[in-house]
Order: sequence, then structure tokens, then C-alpha cells
Amino acid sequence: MTQSTLRALEHHDAFLERHIGPNPAEIAHMLQAIGQPSLEAMTEAIVPASIRSTQPLALPAPISEVEALAKIRAIASKNQVFRSFIGQGYYGTHTPNVILRNILENPAWYTAYTPYQAEISQGRMEALINFQTMVTDLTGMAISNASLLDEATAAAEAMTLAKRSAKSTSNRFFVSKHVHPQTLALLHTRADGIGIEVVVGDEADAAGADVFGVLLQYPNTFGQIHDYAALADAVHAKGGLIAVATDLLALTLIKTPGEWGADIVVGNTQRFGVPFGFGGPHAAFLACKDAFKRSMPGRLIGVSIDAQGNPAYRLTLQTREQHIRREKATSNICTAQVLLAVMASMYAVYHGPEGLIRIATRVHRLAAILASALRAKGVTVGTDFFDTLHVVGVDAATLHAKARAARINLRAIDATSVGISLDETTTREDVVALAALFGAVVADIDAADASTPDALPAGLRRESKFMQHPVFNTHHSEHELLRYLRTLADRDLAMDRTMIPLGSCTMKLNATAEMIPVTWPEFANLHPLAPAEQAEGYRELITSLEAMLVECTGYDAVSLQPNSGAQGEYAGLLAIRGYHRARGEGHRNICLIPESAHGTNPASAQMVGMDVVVVACDKDGNVDVADLRAKAEKHSANLAALMVTYPSTHGVFEEAIVEICEIIHAHGGQVYTDGANMNALVGVAKPGKWGSDVSHLNLHKTFCIPHGGGGPGVGPCAVKAHLAPYLPGTLNADALRTEGVGHGPMVSAASFGSASILPISWMYIVMMGAEGLRRATQVALLNANYVAKRLEPHFPTLYKGGTGLVAHECILDLRPIKDSTGISAEDVAKRLIDFGFHAPTLSFPVAGTLMVEPTESESLHELDRFIDAMVQIRNEIRAIEDGRLDREDNPLKHAPHTAMVVTASEWARGYPRELAAFPLPTLKQAKYWPPVARVDNVYGDRNIMCACIPITAYSGAEEPTAG
Ligand SMILES: *Cc1c(COP(=O)(O)O)cnc(C)c1O
Repeated sequence: MTQSTLRALEHHDAFLERHIGPNPAEIAHMLQAIGQPSLEAMTEAIVPASIRSTQPLALPAPISEVEALAKIRAIASKNQVFRSFIGQGYYGTHTPNVILRNILENPAWYTAYTPYQAEISQGRMEALINFQTMVTDLTGMAISNASLLDEATAAAEAMTLAKRSAKSTSNRFFVSKHVHPQTLALLHTRADGIGIEVVVGDEADAAGADVFGVLLQYPNTFGQIHDYAALADAVHAKGGLIAVATDLLALTLIKTPGEWGADIVVGNTQRFGVPFGFGGPHAAFLACKDAFKRSMPGRLIGVSIDAQGNPAYRLTLQTREQHIRREKATSNICTAQVLLAVMASMYAVYHGPEGLIRIATRVHRLAAILASALRAKGVTVGTDFFDTLHVVGVDAATLHAKARAARINLRAIDATSVGISLDETTTREDVVALAALFGAVVADIDAADASTPDALPAGLRRESKFMQHPVFNTHHSEHELLRYLRTLADRDLAMDRTMIPLGSCTMKLNATAEMIPVTWPEFANLHPLAPAEQAEGYRELITSLEAMLVECTGYDAVSLQPNSGAQGEYAGLLAIRGYHRARGEGHRNICLIPESAHGTNPASAQMVGMDVVVVACDKDGNVDVADLRAKAEKHSANLAALMVTYPSTHGVFEEAIVEICEIIHAHGGQVYTDGANMNALVGVAKPGKWGSDVSHLNLHKTFCIPHGGGGPGVGPCAVKAHLAPYLPGTLNADALRTEGVGHGPMVSAASFGSASILPISWMYIVMMGAEGLRRATQVALLNANYVAKRLEPHFPTLYKGGTGLVAHECILDLRPIKDSTGISAEDVAKRLIDFGFHAPTLSFPVAGTLMVEPTESESLHELDRFIDAMVQIRNEIRAIEDGRLDREDNPLKHAPHTAMVVTASEWARGYPRELAAFPLPTLKQAKYWPPVARVDNVYGDRNIMCACIPITAYSGAEEPTAG
């Protein structure tokens, strides 16, 4: 036997060997199954020569997990974590450790998908309905959604919701000059191009203005709490609506906006246990009056019943809004902030209403004590505040310098004032240190406490109760919360149990080593407005990640600010608009979009004021080039852009892509390539090199950020050089940015969006290296083709490329089965649950089909397990075709089967219990039991109820009713 070389031994330790599911022997076996001699030959047969890269990616060689963690540790250590009193929408918080470990660091929660498949998502939907209940109770509104991307975009959504809902026909929206600056920036971005004029002024002037809505901040950005009841009445009298940006912790002590007349309330739940993260991710919310519920943006969890009549949660109303309503959708929100919403809701569950009041009161007492110490020293601070002092008449520069010397950050406002926001993490020592900056002495805090009155305005104290539901009053010990979290997680299927073969969503491995740096204090505890010199580590991380993404895509510049794919689309279209305007062609407003596009594409186009013109697809699923050419010619004078997904959502590499780009350019348009399918391209082809001008990427798809049950995400916008100046700008002028890049409007509240999860993608790329990334793409193609090939005799693939191969996903056509047996794609999706599988993408992009994307990180074993399940399901369908099973009374129509159903004393079905529960023998070793039977969608939409289920509903005596 020959002796092993060190190099070969070390290679086995390479991360890429762990990330990629199939080993070399399995890859060989699968290549044989699809009739391809090698991965290279297969790649050539799938990817058109016109776009194929000839050079390997110019990225460093792969490094091990240990080396990568050491590298990123060194980067992290360049961030300096000062005590932050900056506020402005971001506050220190203690993440309860039981939540940190069991949610944020727990794959059962972070690897879950958006809860479209209700039966396997009951746990996270319960957590989200707790979130909705918490928000409605604290704000005094009737209904809340289950998260938006950040407070500033939520305020922009509130503006457009008010426009849709107000009686006033004015096109003017009044914004208080006391809202957070990032909120104001986003309102300007969103209003531009859609016919809304933003008027900024003092609240006192709002009552007389002719406007469709008014946005207030309560408490305002400088901490003051004002009574807006009379203003609300005046605005309502003129047919306008009141939108309010607020702070949930303050609302435990002061009157709810609902009590004084607000119509829409938005805010951020960051300070409920979610770290700063240099700006994100955090869950924002939008709550409103019942009358506007059908017009709300974002996702809403509702209560319905299952096939057995038991209560069950489901996504209600807006579930698939963009896909159904396209450019008429109310917003483009797809990925939101589910994981962070779950954390915030559990913070509320853990502390309960009394705990929250205790935390808020303590923060307020410390702020009041600090204020009185400063006043005693002759310093002017505001009155009527909760946690934030607006200190005026000071030499701000000197103060900031003193503060920094003490490793303290204050809010920079102007040359003569500063802001100080206290929070849950503020200690008595902090108060002493803050007072000392002004030369004030707090000798005895307890004595100061005894002699200092509260600073909340007397008429605005909260008297109403909130969070009375048992869920907020039960799990206050760590054991109770731990078990509650476990109970909920056990109801769900996430990637820690099964592959999630969702086409277009790229549910691949989120490796542990990638996740580890996220919760390091150097990344987690930096305020987004911390001075640039404290964020050196972030600067290095961001610059390095941007450069690697530039290399992977072939573009010239990247903005990491968009915090979802849809926001990346929006940023890209804004860049296109900015470019046209700068050239005196601002009239260009036509956006061509193929009919197969993801629903967020037309929704985003609508948000920048473009008119969508739909381009047909041919019988092979490709863009119909003749139709494209005709429409580009027809709209030549006004053509702004084409939005095209590549490889297409039909799962094929279109040969004509280069020609398509040329046609658009010839008519003065720009090519936007939706990069959600980048997992089929990295290391193989670069959109920036074949003629595309701009793309968004989904780091939460291709680049391993976990899906979190529906967020967080990062949707970088990558552009060619001519569009670089129009990429999103940053809030603070000194924020790191490259010359000539990023002077466009902001699209997210924070300059670097969801900064704290960027280490995940950085780790992935450096551990994979050029070689690993290319291999990953090839194996993603191989896995999809293997599944398509093995399932061909049972479920034919709808679209294939010219060589008979698919890209990284395949669409299984179930429509003929529906015609012959009445079994729908949805029945198959639900039956997969009985096998312990999460369904593939259902009815997108083609109704009545299932789209399977296995990704490279699924092993041959897992693929075969899935194929076995699908084949068994096909056999059941054959039994219906042959008359051996009834068309209605069969395991598909009744799927999924709960333990309650199969163990009931009575079993009157026309098939055996064993077939219901254990359709394959292997399931006897490991079985997932869905907690509810098929959820009734119609019932849920007729009886809208979006808050915690009353306990009585479970007794069987009472059904949930409209709330
Ligand atoms: C996922 C996806 C999007 C939207 O991305 P989000 O991050 O969910 O906003 C857009 N286009 C395609 C093709 C997608 O698959």
C-alpha cells in the first residue's frame, strides 16, 4: 500500500467535502444515471457556450473551518464595542440566553421555510401569532402583520397603505420633522415616482394641511412624548389618516396610539431581545385598524380549522399576494424578518406584561435620575420623555470627545445638542458615568431615585391592560420557556429533519461554522450609527464580501444595503431610474417582464412607478424572443428595463440570453437579471459578463444565510460601473463607502442593512474557495437532473434545455394526473408530509406543478429517500387510476394524517391505517406526526382572526370565531 500524502489527507478535512452532499463515488453513480461522463461534460451540456466562463473565479483557495473562524475572529476584533446611548430607533437589550441558544442558534428554528405549508409550520406560526397579539395589544390596534423589514420601510408601507385607504384624495403626505432621519429618508425614496408628495414640518402645522395622511413619531426621535389626540381628530375631519412610528417598550407605560386615534402604527421590535447587529436584522411591524386589514402589506398569520374541525394556523389573506396580484400587489415584501419576530415574541412571552413594565419602568427611572442630575448642573434636557434625553445648549464636539475617551457613544445631533437614550442594559454605573460627562455627580442613586419624580406626561399614562392571554403569563421560568420552545419546534419540519426541495428558494445547508460569528459581541453589539473608526472590522468584512460578490457575478460594484431579494430588486430598479434620469431620459418607464417571473418583479417595478408589459414564453418555457423584440420595438422610446430571471424560473438556461440583452440595449433599456437562481451560475457563468446591467442576489438562498422561517435575508444589488453611482447611499456621511459608488436613495433603514448576518456568506465563500463554489454549482445541477431523471417515468419534467437536461431545478408536471384522477399537486404536497418531507414549490411558476430544487448539499441518500416517497405516491395515484383506491376516499385526499386520526377508535376510510401512517417501512423507525390535518383555507379567509386562540377553543366546545 502506498503511503498517503499530507495534501490528500488534509483535503479530506476541506469544508467543501462537508458542504456538498454526495461524495465522489455517489457523484459518479449519479452521473451515470443521467448519462453524463463527467461533471465538466454535464456542465457543458447544460450551460450555453455563449455565457460559460472560461476562467476560474479569482478567489483564494478553500480554507478549513478552523482557519476561516480564526480569520473572521481577527476581523471581528477590529470592531470596538463601546457603550451605546445613541438610540434613534436602536437600543441595547439583553437577549435572554434561553432564547439565544434555543432560537437564534437552533437550526430547528433558523432553517425553517416561510410557512406556506401550514400543517408542518404550526409551531412557528404560533410564535408569530404571539408576535401579532403582542403588537396589537401594545399599540392598541386591531390587527398586526407578522413582521416587516425595518421601521423605516414599515413607515413607507404605512404611507402607501394610507394612500390606498384614506378618504382624502390629496396626494400629499405630511411627515413630522421629529421622526427618525432614516425614516424620513425612506419616505422620500418611496414617494418619488409614485405621485406622492412628502411634506415635512412641525406637527403643529399638520392639522391645517391638505393631506391624505400624517406620520408622527411617539415618543419622537428626540424622546419627547406629546399628546396628539386633537391633531388626530383634525386630520380625520379632513379625511386623512394618522400613521405613527412608535416604541413598544415605551407603550407599556404610555397610552397606546390606538387610544388617541391612530389608524396605522409601525415600529421595530429590536429592543425585545434582538441585538443591534450594526443595523439588522430586526423585525419591524405594521398594525392597523380592522378596516384596512385587506390592504395590509406583508404576511399575516390567521386562525382557521383543519379537516377535523380543530383550530389550526395558516397564512391568511396576503399569502401569495405578489404572485396573484403581480404589479397590483400592495407591496413587494416576500422575505421578511420571521426569525427575529419569533425572538421578540418570545422575549414578551418570557417576561410577560409585568416583566416588560418592570424593564420599562427601570429604564425610565434611570433616565429621570440622569435628567435631574443634569438639570441640577444647569444643563437643559427635555421634559416628558420615556428613555431619551435631548440635551441642548452644549458644546457637542467636546462632549463626544469626552464620551469616546470613556468608551461611550452619544447621539450626534448638531453642534450644540446631543441625545442620550437609556435602555435595558443601562447600569447604575452608566448613569454615574454619563452624568460625569457633564460634570454632574450622582452620589447616591437610591437617594436620587427617592427624590426624582417620573417624567412621563400625566395625561398620557397607560391604564389599559395588555398581553392578558395565558401564553404571556405562563412561561416565565427558564424551564417553562425551554419546553415551550421545544414543543413548538417539534411541530415543525425544518432542514434539521428533512430536505426542503423548494424550487427557486435554494434551501441549502447553513453550516454551523458559518453561523457561529453572528452572535459574537463584536458583530452583534455594534450600533448602526457607531462612529466609523469603531466599525473597522465591519468595514473589512463588508469590503471583502463585496469584492467576492463582484468576482462571482462579473459586475463592478455591490451594495449590501437591501435586506431582502425584493428590496434588492427595488434598489436595482431605482439605479436604472437614476441612470435614465441623469441622461435626461427620465420618461423611460416601461418594464418588460416575462410571464414566468417571480411575483416580486412586477411588484417592485410598480413601486418605482414603472408600467409593466408582460412578455410571453414559448412552449419550451423560454422567453418568446419574437414577442420580446416586438414589445421592445413598440415601447422603444419609453423602454426602461427588462427584468429577466436566469436561469429562468422554468429551470432552463435559455440559449438566447445574450441576444435578449442586445435587443433591450438597442432600444435604450437596461437589463435587470433576477439573481435568485445564482446557485446555478456561481463559478460557471457571470451575468455581468453576458450583457446584464444589474442583478440582486439572495444571500439567503445561494450564499447560505438561513431562511429563518421567512427571513432574515440579504439581497445585495450588483451593478455594472455605469449604474454604480445610483446604488443606495448611506445615512451618515462618514459611513464607509467607495468613491463614485452609492449616491442613490436609501432603501433600508440601516446603511448596511442586515449587517450582522453577512459573516455567514463571507464564511461560506472563503471556506469553499473558487474550486468549491464551482463544484457546488455543478452538483446542484447534477442533483436536479438526477431527481428529474429518476422521477421521469412517474412525474414528467415540464421544461428541459436543448440537450434534455434541466438547470438546478425541475418542474414536475402533475396536471395530467389531475385530469385523470382528480389528484392535485396540492394533494401530493400534503401527502409528502406523511413521509416526513416538506413539499417542493407548489404551483409556481406554473399552476398545477411542483418545482423541485434539491441543492448541492443534499446527499444521494436524501435524494433517494425523496424519490422513494414520490414513487410511492405515484403508486397510490395509480391505484386510483386502476380503481383500487377511491377517487375521494384515499390517502392523498385525506393527507396529512395526524396521530389523532390514525389512532382513533373509529376508522371508516377505504384504505388501511398502516398505509395512512407508514406508507414506507422506513417510516417505522423515524416518523414525523403533523400536529393538524389539512388546514381549511376558505374557512380561514372567511373568518379572519389573527390573534392568540382563546384557550376555550381547544376544549372542543367552541370554534374560533371572527375576532
Ligand atoms: C426568492 C425570490 C425573489 C424574492 O426574494 P426575497 O428575498 O424573498 O424578497 C425574487 N425572485 C425570485 C426568482 C425568487 O426566487
